Amino acid sequence: MARFVPRATAPRGVVNTIAAVVGLVALAAAQVASQDPPSHRGFTFSAGTCELGPQFCASATQKDWTAAEIALVSGALDEIAGTNLGRRIIDGALSNGFRTIRRFARAARLDGGGGYQAEAATVATTHHDEASGIRTIDLTDRFFERQSLRDQFSGPAGYLLTTEVLAHELVHAVDMDQRYSGTELFRRGVRLGMPATLQADVDAANAERRALVAAGRHGDDWYASRSFAIVRLRGRLPSLHALEGYREAFAEIGAHLVLDANARAQFEPRVIQYFTQSVSGTQ
Ligand SMILES: [Zn+2]
Repeated sequence: MARFVPRATAPRGVVNTIAAVVGLVALAAAQVASQDPPSHRGFTFSAGTCELGPQFCASATQKDWTAAEIALVSGALDEIAGTNLGRRIIDGALSNGFRTIRRFARAARLDGGGGYQAEAATVATTHHDEASGIRTIDLTDRFFERQSLRDQFSGPAGYLLTTEVLAHELVHAVDMDQRYSGTELFRRGVRLGMPATLQADVDAANAERRALVAAGRHGDDWYASRSFAIVRLRGRLPSLHALEGYREAFAEIGAHLVLDANARAQFEPRVIQYFTQSVSGTQ
């Protein structure tokens, strides 16, 4: 007759088994969650990968993220997202497929012989490798060495150098394949050419900067770059770095429009308009 007894619940042994299975699934899910790389504002802090081959990785050297490094970069993303323009830059980088920030000891660049040479001075790169489909922003030890340094020309507090570097790389990600910095309209607006006498002074200032970088004096290098641009170029461009080409100029202009309260009064209106329309997708 037992087979006619209504059974509201499963026998005790079955219940225990189900509970055990549910417990295991929950535990496994928690383990997977804890192994997921951390992320912030759509960007994952991931380990470096070797898509460019073992020689690249031997030079670049992947590193694990520390909690303090993740906090620093997350704070930088929050600061960039504090303005409409900054949010549009972040959205543009994400929609172009740049969704990871990787940590390497140093940058590495192809040398003439098909191998890779470590680039000791490189702070960050926006890495776009068509063959492997990888689009990422890579930060090096040089980035984190600058972490307590602030700019001295952008208002009372001055932006953190690390925040500017990250904003600069995000603008490169928006400008993928130089879609905005490679146009005639931008080149005409920014005008990187200059008289020979001024060019000689630029070369001398850059030589001084290389010596400061070699001595590890990153704050003084930044000061030299910014003061030259503000005094000698009358703030038309934000830094000597902007003179390294139209791609760099576009990234420096964008980063300073987001982080430097003085930039809008110093840049030419048509350059500000061009940048804003580019990032808004209305260019
Ligand atoms: Zn750059």
